[in-house]
Amino acid sequence: MSASRSRDDLGGARRIAVLEDPRFAEHRSPAGHPERPERLRAVGRAISERRDRLVSLTARPADGDELCAVHPLSHVRTIETAARMAPGHLDADTYVSRESYEVAVLAAGAAIEAARAVAQGRCDAAFAAVRPPGHHAEAHRAMGFCLFNNVAIAAHALRRDGVERVLIVDWDVHHGNGTQHVFEEDPNVLFFSTHQFPFYPGTGDFGEAGRGHGEHATVNVPLPPGCGDHEYAGVLRRVLAPVALRFRPELILVSCGFDAHRDDPLASMQLSGAGYRAMTEIVRSLADELCDGRIAFVLEGGYAPSGLVEGMSGVLDALCAPQASPLLEAPEATPGSTLRHVVDRVAAVHRRHFEDLGAG
Ligand SMILES: [Zn+2]
Repeated sequence: MSASRSRDDLGGARRIAVLEDPRFAEHRSPAGHPERPERLRAVGRAISERRDRLVSLTARPADGDELCAVHPLSHVRTIETAARMAPGHLDADTYVSRESYEVAVLAAGAAIEAARAVAQGRCDAAFAAVRPPGHHAEAHRAMGFCLFNNVAIAAHALRRDGVERVLIVDWDVHHGNGTQHVFEEDPNVLFFSTHQFPFYPGTGDFGEAGRGHGEHATVNVPLPPGCGDHEYAGVLRRVLAPVALRFRPELILVSCGFDAHRDDPLASMQLSGAGYRAMTEIVRSLADELCDGRIAFVLEGGYAPSGLVEGMSGVLDALCAPQASPLLEAPEATPGSTLRHVVDRVAAVHRRHFEDLGAG
């Protein structure tokens, strides 16, 4: 790619961008719904505390071509019409309010802008703090609080800009079914997901490994309830690292949910703020080694205010640190442990394709 980073022009300081917009609060939830505007207040608190180390980017709406790279026009029209007739529901979980169409189009555009700013060297890393989330949205269907698939739309925009290989790391506690399905036959967008399993939405078992030309460009790491910092860091070091080293992405996108935090009311994982920081350090180290540090985050789920603040703080602190931490020693995967079991199951599916899968 032609874009080059301009760290020298910035006096050596890292340039970490955040993308916020008050309009994201205009997607108004029914009473008691966990995906509510206050979530962004919690994320915003972590951003405010680090404001002097961050730069702001401005969101703009995705255009029709960008949306339709992932969704058929009929789906775009369905969301637009549903919002016009709001309030209403598209499925049992997924609501629309009056402004939801415009807000969702803005969220998709924000994801594109974060990714492009990184690809074009306007910043070292970026975080798009958007609502509604996106990774459950299928091409033809809204689901799981998601209207348009923000991260998939951003990945498509990068590909059209000439970025050859994009790695999507989805560490939301739920499986990113929509993102997987959009790219499962595409060898140039590798989808890697950790998620509680079995759990909503039911997809993401070990054997779902891509199809056709996209075989082995989908890597699923389903985890039992109760996993925490050790298991997540272990999976990223022992599975994601060898996968990324073989795939050699030109940019990494993170579908960044904070609902694997131990305080989250919807799921049963045990990540701490330090865990999110360690995970970000691992992914940043991989980006530094493989693609000149190019990494962009898009907010997905996360429903405990404390989990959102702690998780976001961990991510930002890892991104803002002057140097990437050296790639952490892979956490011990002792025989009989959950980590050993999970890594061995993934390796059984993918080891012939990815050397060193499961090793330290
Ligand atoms: Zn989630």
